[in-house]
Amino acid sequence: MKKILNYIDGELIEPINGEYLDNFNPSTGKVYSVVPDSDHDDINKAVKAAQIAYNEWSQTSKEYRSEMLLKLANILELHTQEFIEAESKDNGKPETLAAKVDLPRALTNLRFFASAILHDSSEMHDMDGEAINYTLRQPIGVAACISAWNLPIYLLTWKIAPALATGNTVVAKPSEITPMTAYLFSKVCIEAGLPKGVLNIVHGAGKKVGDPLTSHPDVPVVSFTGGTATGQHISSITSPMFKKLSLELGGKNPNIIFDDADFEKSVSFASRAAFTNQGQICLCGSRLFIHEKIYEKFKKALIQKASKLNIGNPRSADSNLGAVVSKDHMNKILSKIKEAEKLGGKILLGGTRKILQGDLKEGYYINPTIIEGLDYKCSINQEEIFGPVVSIIPFKDEEQVITMANSTKYGLSASIFTENISKAHRVAAKIDSGVIWINTWLLRDLRIPFGGMKHSGIGREGGFNSLRFFTEPKNICIKL
Ligand code: NAD
Repeated sequence: MKKILNYIDGELIEPINGEYLDNFNPSTGKVYSVVPDSDHDDINKAVKAAQIAYNEWSQTSKEYRSEMLLKLANILELHTQEFIEAESKDNGKPETLAAKVDLPRALTNLRFFASAILHDSSEMHDMDGEAINYTLRQPIGVAACISAWNLPIYLLTWKIAPALATGNTVVAKPSEITPMTAYLFSKVCIEAGLPKGVLNIVHGAGKKVGDPLTSHPDVPVVSFTGGTATGQHISSITSPMFKKLSLELGGKNPNIIFDDADFEKSVSFASRAAFTNQGQICLCGSRLFIHEKIYEKFKKALIQKASKLNIGNPRSADSNLGAVVSKDHMNKILSKIKEAEKLGGKILLGGTRKILQGDLKEGYYINPTIIEGLDYKCSINQEEIFGPVVSIIPFKDEEQVITMANSTKYGLSASIFTENISKAHRVAAKIDSGVIWINTWLLRDLRIPFGGMKHSGIGREGGFNSLRFFTEPKNICIKL
């Protein structure tokens, strides 16, 4: 049985209590490795190591830190295939998706912030000859970087790269459900010669590791990606301690199709937005609003498109969808589908677990599911399901669809499909979301401010936003 280890002070070590949790392969439903069941002792050790490392790391030049991130990327790239297979085995996603999205993006994250730090600048404010102000941007200290299971190595690198580039040291806590690629990444750090203690990775259960980390008095900055309820809990710990906090949380994203949209293109995007990564992307379009004039035609085309998706062994090249991440999560999704039926929803496609053959028969597979007939205010259209489930809803005009789109507590992303550019701008300006796509979905420029409104989060990540978040501004005023 493969044993995952913590990475603390430059070494791969067992948890201090010697205890481990089972780690499942979602495609088979079988335990295939164990992950440290760490606790406050491991966190204390990691924070201590990060604090000591901070003294030197925070004094290194931007060029040095940039080169170190590039080195991490180059070594990670040499291990790309190993990481693709590991991510798929740990998470259930198709290897083809890990090869197309997760690994390229992890490499880009490291390289992007390695470059960004060299192009960063800070402000100067001139007081008409009386004085000048300049603002220093200094690292903050030990940063906690906590990430979710849906895009494990992608989210981990998205957080640690800007934190390290700006001169902070890090204690990272990957999801206990998908710890493998973070473990492999700690080996990359060792191979690259990353100074000890600069990055520490502590594995284990959410609360048992998360609470001692976010409440640690020597951790002044916390960057979290995960569920809204966990974000609320973390905020209740960090706010009274005046820690800097970034929260990237859940979504219930509307995908709006007007009757003048490019039909084929919008059907294709609607299917991708609903089902990519088994619907387990915070940006998935799980509420699909279709103009009533094209509703029936669109519905048929979507069913046809989604029924062609091949759900199967994540290892095979022809699988479009793999397994969802865990048995608990599968059961939660299936119970939400039952709830949808009870609320009067009609299952147009899927709605059931898919049982595959042989080794895969205990795997957590769910057929892509399309539901219609639910009120936009009902629980299924308000709460995040985070699975391959889309609810389709007709609308008659702009005003009505804006009201329905904005009716949830979330505000992460939205997509609008129309060939009328004025309408696109008009509607985009009125949708309460941090990220809006017009005639596309999941097109990401790493420089843009990324994040959500309302209960989808606080703050923005990406480009200079991340560099600002991981630094403290200090203004210096000089009387002339
Ligand atoms: P989760 O909140 O259960 O867990 C996220 C991480 O937080 C995990 O590492 C977990 O172990 C840890 N955690 C749990 N309890 C903690 C605590 N008390 N203190 C500190 N850390 C704790 O979320 P999840 O189920 O892993 O991920 C799915 C959620 O993440 C969905 O809601 C999804 O929308 C969201 N998500 C958001 C974004 C975004 O950018 N907005 C991206 C990916 C996923």
